[in-house]
Amino acid sequence: MQRTNALSLIAVLLALAGLSCGRAPGAGPPLPDTVPADPRALLSALAADSMEGRATATAGSARAARLIAGRMRALGLEPAGDSGYFQRVPLTLTRGADGARGLQLLGPGHADSAPAGQPVMDVNVIGLLRGVDSALGDEAVVVGAHFDHLGIGAPVAGDSIYNGADDDASGVVAVLGAAQALAGGPPPRRTVVFLITTGEEQGLLGTRWYIDHPAVPLERTVADLQVEMIGRPDSLAGGPGRAWLTGYERSTMGRQLAAAGIPVVDDPRPAFDFFLRSDNIAFARRGIPAHTLSSYNLHTDYHQPSDEVERVDFDHLARLLDATARAVRVLADGDAPRWNPGGRPEPSGAGS
Ligand SMILES: [Zn+2]
Repeated sequence: MQRTNALSLIAVLLALAGLSCGRAPGAGPPLPDTVPADPRALLSALAADSMEGRATATAGSARAARLIAGRMRALGLEPAGDSGYFQRVPLTLTRGADGARGLQLLGPGHADSAPAGQPVMDVNVIGLLRGVDSALGDEAVVVGAHFDHLGIGAPVAGDSIYNGADDDASGVVAVLGAAQALAGGPPPRRTVVFLITTGEEQGLLGTRWYIDHPAVPLERTVADLQVEMIGRPDSLAGGPGRAWLTGYERSTMGRQLAAAGIPVVDDPRPAFDFFLRSDNIAFARRGIPAHTLSSYNLHTDYHQPSDEVERVDFDHLARLLDATARAVRVLADGDAPRWNPGGRPEPSGAGS
């Protein structure tokens, strides 16, 4: 057993007690009564300085999680966490000599290197729409984005808040937009799980927790689509309104979406290995065709305090929100994607 600080253990127990009442981490307020539906307003709220950069296991992160859950509730999604829309993700926090925060999953099988740190908590936010098809309704499609970002850090040009407007408030808004579109249309044939994860920037922590505690068993999860950084157009994807899909040729998903008229192309920068660098890879390594839709153009605001709302191209974003919603509809109602020969990654390896 690892050395723990008794006071921090009590804090975690209190946090758990609060969560069991349907609250977000800590003794914070309940879900907000109103959450903006408009994409620009919602993205602006998530990337506001008041969210403090949404670093995992911080007050800013908890505020963002409550906002996202409030939006899911407004859309009428079925709560699919272990505490309403919240799926508790137990973590351990360590601090390096330079004060840098380190976070790892806490729990059996997750103590990567037996960290002796402070137990802390964050959450994934999960809502779903039940599939109605008699044959396919037990199957699920996961559509996800990560809500965490880098928090408050070294100031650059006097700004120390790493807002993460593009990375990945833009993806969160897209997933919630797809939820709105599907909830407002005919019920999907397959169940659609809307999964907004924490801890991506710290090593896909929230997704790794979800994989071990899925809302629908992984054997019945037929596809995963992640949305990452769609706030600015990429000329290599064809410019405004267009996106690329990581690992496009690895499965049938990319061609299936393109055939449905959705403006996605192959990842134009395969040397960057983006297929291995986002939440999708954790699903792919479990055998589920999983890709990330993005229009990241290698802008220099990546992981900088200047990843601000003011630099989001909202006309482009609106077109990609539409593309995301249509892609989710195709995956929910159409053929299940399959790996192409040689496309499925090894069960373990880089980016797990
Ligand atoms: Zn990201």
